[in-house]
Order: sequence, then structure tokens, then C-alpha cells
Amino acid sequence: MSLFQSLEEKALQKWGWSSYFEALWNGGQRENTVPARVIAQQRKFWRVAGTFGECWAEPAGRLHLSTGESVEWPAVGDWVAVELGDRQANGMIQEVLPRRSRLVRKTPGKKTAQQVIAANVDTALLVSALDGDFNPRRVERYLAQCWESGARPVLVLNKADACLDGERKAAEIERLAPGTKVCMLSAKTGQGLEELEEFLKPGDTLVLLGSSGVGKSTIANRLLGESLQDVRPVREGDSRGRHTTSSRTLFALPCGALLMDTPGLRELQLWDAAEGVSQAFADVDALAAQCRFSDCRHEDEPGCAVAAALVAGTLDRARLENHRKLLREQAFLRRKLAPEARQEDFHLAVVK
Ligand code: GDP
Ligand code: ZN
Repeated sequence: MSLFQSLEEKALQKWGWSSYFEALWNGGQRENTVPARVIAQQRKFWRVAGTFGECWAEPAGRLHLSTGESVEWPAVGDWVAVELGDRQANGMIQEVLPRRSRLVRKTPGKKTAQQVIAANVDTALLVSALDGDFNPRRVERYLAQCWESGARPVLVLNKADACLDGERKAAEIERLAPGTKVCMLSAKTGQGLEELEEFLKPGDTLVLLGSSGVGKSTIANRLLGESLQDVRPVREGDSRGRHTTSSRTLFALPCGALLMDTPGLRELQLWDAAEGVSQAFADVDALAAQCRFSDCRHEDEPGCAVAAALVAGTLDRARLENHRKLLREQAFLRRKLAPEARQEDFHLAVVK
């Protein structure tokens, strides 16, 4: 491999390029295009970065998504094939590579449609605050959403400095998500921050999710550290540079990891996450599988394993109720998406 090639590779790796995407890229016929990552989006323009540096790009008319998904537009985090224009000052996005993970939300407004707001996130830091409105039910909701997206969840319990019974709350959260890492920290004092290190490997893409006020910005500032100025370069003698670069949403952290921050991510709501819900509540599903009747509603049927677990105290009633609530939401969304499904649901209800 020539020195030039390895330098090119480094430039891509900086944005999270990996052997996974390289194999995808090499598996296709792509002439006149280069790989690039979408690092920001403004209306119908996408900021892309690659070995050529950075430029704004537009999607080609015949843009297609290799995965055949209905969600066609490139999103922040996507790897795309770009055809560069003159002097590499602009580009045309010809293709969006298949996504490894995707965070989806309902499009704003009444329309029942979905929109990908972040792609190829490796790790989602699901942030809760240990003070005031600590809410395990909300954590379950975020977990369901995260499992659905394909990103790995890490549960972050922030504001450890403002809480006396942090250990007890952490233990409660650990029970909700066996096998998922729970980190207790204080973004204010810096205590416990080192627990995040294992998820901050060079090229890893992270996102901070959680309700407003839990400390996402404070954590982001901690991770960005002294380099805050570096990630918002202002071009010499160009006062407008400040504006154009402030929209940047994929930040390269000093440690080499990438942190995604888009406004849409903060107001994420559960959306078509049936798969994620069943993963987040795998324990409840496993219990239900042991009920005597396969269509057990876990109310007062004999031989109900779910009811038995409630009595034994191995399953929390609030958790079961939250599971039901999320399932109802999913059913509601499905009916909205497919009016013909309404008939089917009604039919099932009558048979039961
Ligand atoms: P965001 O809305 O999730 O981005 O939350 P912010 O980062 O803006 O934080 C909301 C408030 O919580 C601010 O007043 C922060 O100073 C405060 N805060 C953030 N992290 C901590 C922490 O670890 N401990 C305490 N006591 N306060 C914190
Ligand atoms: Zn049952």
C-alpha cells in the first residue's frame, strides 16, 4: 500500500470509516465517486467529509438507497458515494450506503411518516439525571428505541453529585437492562466520567439521548474539552464562516470518537419500534412464553407465569404496565400506518 493510500485511509477513518463500510464499498461498481460521510444537514444541502476535505453536496435526481428502504434522503452520519465537482468545491450524492443503525422519528406535523435523523450511530448514551424526576419508565422507552435503531445502548446516570441514593437507583436501572452497561457520573464535577472511555474509541460514533435538562450539553462539553474551538473553525477574514460551521452536527472529539448532535434527536419519540420493545422487555416475553395458554393476557388466567413473577417480586408491576403501554402505542401507530390493519385488530379482539 502506498503512503498516499494510507493517508487517504486515515482521513476516512477519522470520520468512522471501517472495514465494514470498506467491504460494502468494494462490493459495488462505483465509478467517478468517492466515499464521504454526511456530517451536517441544512434543508436540501448536505455537508460531506472525506479524503478531499469537506464540501456541500446535493442528492442526485436518481439517488437511490442501496438498502431499498423507503426513507430515502441522506441523514447525518450516512456514508455516501459523492461525485465531486470542479475543484472539489461541491458534490453530488449518488448513493447512500446501507446503514448499520438508524434513529427514526415521526416527521414533524400530523403526517404519519418517518424520517431518519441519524445514521450509523455505534453507541447511544441514554442519559437520565439522578436528581428530581428520575424515571425508570422513561429509561425503558429510550432503551426500546435504541434497540430498534441498531445502536448499542449505554445507560448514563448523570448528576451523581446531587443524589444521595445513587447506588440504589443504579441498581434499579441495572435490573431493567441486564447486560447493558450503566455508568453513574457527574458531568459537573467530572466524577465517573472515565467510565465512558471504553465507548469513545477513535472512529466510534456516539449520540447523547435523553430529556431536556438531564445534562446532555454538559456531558458533551466535557467530552469536547479544550478542543471546543478546534471543531468550530472560522475561516480567516470570513465572518460568515462562523454561521456556516455552527450547524455542524458531527463533532470530532479529542479522543478520536465522533459525537453527533442534531436538534431532532433531542425530541425523539417512540416510532415503529415493535422489535425494540420486545428486545427491551425480553424478560417479560420470556415469562409470557411460560404461561399455560399461548394467548394469555396475564390478567387472571390460571398458570400465568407473568402473574406468578409479580407475586414473587421478580417482575415489577410498573415495568409490566409500561410494557403494555408501549405495546398499545405500537398498535396505535400500526393502525395509523395501515388503515386496513384496523379490521384485523378488531377481528383478533373479538376472537379472544
Ligand atoms: P441538557 O438539556 O440535557 O443538555 O442539559 P444541560 O447540560 O443543559 O444541563 C441542565 C442543567 O443541569 C444545567 O443547569 C447544568 O448545569 C446542570 N447539570 C448538568 N450536569 C450536572 C451534574 O452532573 N450535576 C449537577 N448538579 N448539575 C448538572
Ligand atoms: Zn400470562
